[in-house]
Amino acid sequence: MTSNSATVAPLTPSGFEKAQAKPEVPSAEFVNVPWQTKATTLFFIILPLLATLAAPFFFNFSWLDGGLLLGFYVISMMGITVGYHRLFTHASFETPTWVKCVFAIFGSMALQGSLFDWVATHRRHHQFSDTKDDPHSPHHHGTGIWAMIKGAYHSHIGWFFKPEPVNMTRYIKDLRNSRALRVMNALFPLWVVLALILPGILGGLLSQSWKGALTGFLWGGLVRVFLVHHITWSINSACHIWGSRPFQSKDLSRNNMIFGILALGEGWHNTHHAFPRSARHGLRWWEIDGSYGVIRLLSLFGLAWDIRLPDAEALASASEKAR
Ligand SMILES: [Zn+2]
Ligand SMILES: [Zn+2]
Repeated sequence: MTSNSATVAPLTPSGFEKAQAKPEVPSAEFVNVPWQTKATTLFFIILPLLATLAAPFFFNFSWLDGGLLLGFYVISMMGITVGYHRLFTHASFETPTWVKCVFAIFGSMALQGSLFDWVATHRRHHQFSDTKDDPHSPHHHGTGIWAMIKGAYHSHIGWFFKPEPVNMTRYIKDLRNSRALRVMNALFPLWVVLALILPGILGGLLSQSWKGALTGFLWGGLVRVFLVHHITWSINSACHIWGSRPFQSKDLSRNNMIFGILALGEGWHNTHHAFPRSARHGLRWWEIDGSYGVIRLLSLFGLAWDIRLPDAEALASASEKAR
């Protein structure tokens, strides 16, 4: 795709980044996550896992189930990558409010927490990436193989259950100013229910059978959530451990091709940390970035503008420093 000067914009700091530019003191005050929240999180991690282990043995996999799995995978993954991440966390492009609402719903359908919680955590990740104040760095867990395993587990899942800094709302003041986004965020439980029952309803209607409803729910709902969960969380774990570092960044982020492809562009994570506001993460021609493709597609319909991209000078400087 070619650049269109009317729709692209340079990587100036976003409103949130400017607000954050002041000297920042890491919060010293932490609170335990309530046990009810921990239990709910654990339930929604374990249930898709059990369903994925059981599904191949007990349930047929029809073309319809495959379609539901793929369709809901792409919708909910895009909700995270284009919506929660590039649009809401980093303001990588601008779009009408109704499109924002659609992405907030799609992102919620990945069952990774509400919009505001997700964005607050991710902004903190960028602010303190790979220091001890990073919510989910795989590093700082000691040395040796056991420490590495502990670190990888912490960055993948363990951090959900650790005490959280107080006043996380300071990270999302800009989003909370939008009434539409406050409503989308408050309706998170509804989007979770829809994410699970919609594939079942579609499976039942299209196959005209109760069995189709059950397998649709299983493959398009639970197995799909399992895949989206672990592939997205691998950006926090694997993409801070394995891969290349073509650009200078203040952390240990890596470009990992497997997750570049599976997570629709998010695995080019060193590039992302080097240019957090860039709408495009796979900057070289062979670095496939499905999410950027969607943003360009939106722009063709006039639904995305101010698409932030690094200029040649910024690219050259960051790759020179990485040598
Ligand atoms: Zn990262
Ligand atoms: Zn990010």
